[in-house]
Amino acid sequence: MGLKIELARVYGFCPGVRRAVEMIEEHLAREGRVATLGAIVHNARVVETLSQKGAVVARGLDGVQEPAVAITAHGAGREVYAEIERRGLKLVDTTCPIVKRAQEVARALAQDGYTVLIYGEESHPEVRGILSWTEGKGYATMSPDDLFELNPKTLAIVSQTTKDQKAFWEFVREVIARLHPAIKDLRVVDTTCPETGRRYRAALELAERVQAIFVVGSRNSANTRKLAETCERTGVPTYFIEDARELRPEWVHGLSCVGVTAGASTPDELVREVVSRLRKLGGESA
Ligand code: SF4
Repeated sequence: MGLKIELARVYGFCPGVRRAVEMIEEHLAREGRVATLGAIVHNARVVETLSQKGAVVARGLDGVQEPAVAITAHGAGREVYAEIERRGLKLVDTTCPIVKRAQEVARALAQDGYTVLIYGEESHPEVRGILSWTEGKGYATMSPDDLFELNPKTLAIVSQTTKDQKAFWEFVREVIARLHPAIKDLRVVDTTCPETGRRYRAALELAERVQAIFVVGSRNSANTRKLAETCERTGVPTYFIEDARELRPEWVHGLSCVGVTAGASTPDELVREVVSRLRKLGGESA
């Protein structure tokens, strides 16, 4: 009997990343060259494919030679928009609508006089962007121990979109426990994105049905690494691979059913190639 290959119920590109890649491809097909402010997605294959079509990854606006620049799905701060306009560059804004909402919520709360606390990593590009929209009225932290800087009287709490929703609400509970009764006015807006959690849950379901899991994606993709860690914690042998070439025949030797999943930055073609190689190594697709 052949090897059964099961795909996770949800895997690969999230809608925000898919939209960003499609917007860049459409721009390249229509107008040619574009500089993206950072990699449009943390995946070497995607970056390579887009670069062959005319996209260049830029670290910042200085030195951009292309007539157009693209903001990635993570979004950017208001000063980046202003600078693009000042330089007369054409803008391709691929900010994910869910990130855009987080920016708009943070901006509105800051304008209403709230101190905006962002549950997230201060150094992450998405968080830096959201902070910028608060115009100096925002703080980012993952730890309730850092709250001493805050004016707690009028406090609002939002989240980096990719943070776990449960962890966000635990953070909110902890903030309230520490600052009560100093808080006079509190607003909490859940700006987490359901997409990351959907991939983790689907991977856990998959782990219950298979003897080994292959997680496909770049090692520099934080969300794929976390997905692989989630799979590893189930105790099912987990192999984190960048592409089909890394698959070793001995990993499936003697197995009857294996699972495949991929992070939100992994394109479908890499998953297809892994499934196809697994088939050759002795299987049939589910
Ligand atoms: S993970 Fe969610 S917020 Fe981030 S790009 Fe994808 S859809 Fe948008």
